[in-house]
Amino acid sequence: MCFSLKLIGCLTLFVLAGAFSAPAQTTAGDHTPTGVEQLETLRPVFEGLFEATVAHLPANYRKEYRQLYTDLRDSRLKEAENGCFLLDKDVSGYLEAILREIKRANPGLLKREVRLLITRDPVPNATTFPDGLILFNAGLLAACANESQVAFILCHELAHHELEHGPRAIAKRFDLLYSKKAKREMASIARQKNASEKARAYLSELTYEHRRHSRENESEADSLAAVFLARTRYDASQASGALRMLDTIDNDFHTPRFDLKTTFDFPDYPFKIKWLEEENTLFRDGARVFDGALNKDSLKTHPDCRHRATLMSDRYLKGYQQDGRLSDPQGLELFASIRQTARYEALLGAFDGGNIDLCLFLTLARLREQSGNVRLHALVGRCFNALYAAQRDHVFSRYVQAPRVGFEPGYKGWLQFLNTLRLRELAAVGYHYLNTCDQAFLQDEEFQYQLLAAAKNMELPDETARHKTAYLRNFPKGKYRAVIQSF
Ligand SMILES: [Zn+2]
Repeated sequence: MCFSLKLIGCLTLFVLAGAFSAPAQTTAGDHTPTGVEQLETLRPVFEGLFEATVAHLPANYRKEYRQLYTDLRDSRLKEAENGCFLLDKDVSGYLEAILREIKRANPGLLKREVRLLITRDPVPNATTFPDGLILFNAGLLAACANESQVAFILCHELAHHELEHGPRAIAKRFDLLYSKKAKREMASIARQKNASEKARAYLSELTYEHRRHSRENESEADSLAAVFLARTRYDASQASGALRMLDTIDNDFHTPRFDLKTTFDFPDYPFKIKWLEEENTLFRDGARVFDGALNKDSLKTHPDCRHRATLMSDRYLKGYQQDGRLSDPQGLELFASIRQTARYEALLGAFDGGNIDLCLFLTLARLREQSGNVRLHALVGRCFNALYAAQRDHVFSRYVQAPRVGFEPGYKGWLQFLNTLRLRELAAVGYHYLNTCDQAFLQDEEFQYQLLAAAKNMELPDETARHKTAYLRNFPKGKYRAVIQSF
């Protein structure tokens, strides 16, 4: 049901493992949570989905089903509380319009109710849950080239829902885990020698089966999605384009688009080669960082997207006539603006989710295309200020991963760099980064505040006082007024 699924495991796997983890709360930053408002808006939605689903549970395993949907509801409420959703009227309106067009064109085919929400998750993925909730990540919206590609992805998710892939997968897993036969099997394993080893082997067999079915489900969903899309006024040939984009996106996602040495080399604070040396990262927060063996293939539950793109054009859409259909019926300008919002929100979503390493990495990549974007420069400063606070409070590893084997080499090098920086260096890099930006950026409240905070971290009292005065003068109703009183 997940769309790209190279980065994320499948829903039922998560459900059955009870692994619906809420993102970490960000305590290191100066972020004001929007969670209260989200919770208020979304609570009736999640409660409604829960009530509607538990009213029609299958006859078998009712207790287990109820627990599953209770956990699902609770994890969603937690996510709302953490501000994980993108509640932007323009973005929701844009996606709802696409959904309406797909429904209009397929009156007899789309029978099951769905609910669509957009997350602030930077990971390029979409997920359909068995209760009809489709989650479209901002990171995926940000990666689409046009409206027709968004439409294809929605068609694919709708196809999963119509084909009941989610409920079927759960029913199958429940059978495999809780049926009398499964219980007998586990009981017999428990009596044998090397019981835990055998139990693991038994469960990995189940996981393998599950993945095989997931692959079959993807092909089915693509094939039905092609039918849905071809009936709309969208350019269905964009389906292959979307799949080709997904084929490379996981690599693209972690490919550095900036040069560390030039980005962090400043006239008054030159780049230090030792920041790239591996041995500096062996100790962090008192714990040794091990290179855990990551089996990357284990996460790949789907057939490769390039193959799916070929199937799409050569089989599912064979003979399809484009007939001058538009890639962007709602207009290129609107698409560009929606994508811009999605891109920025995905970055903030990474920050608020506690993934400051990823937020900073993606922000610097984005700056390659938008070097004059003050919001992005301010976000770089915000990340360094947050990392400084995290390092000072000995919680750095909550926000920056260790550079493990299995990461893309470029991303591993990036984590290596962040893990090498000591407290004073984090303050200095952030401060010099902001201080060498265009001084016209000081007209922006967020930028001005981050530079003020960076100057404080650098323990520069005169400069801190100067920026504080400027902030209070330029932003008499600024949101950081209370915070900076103590500076
Ligand atoms: Zn899928």
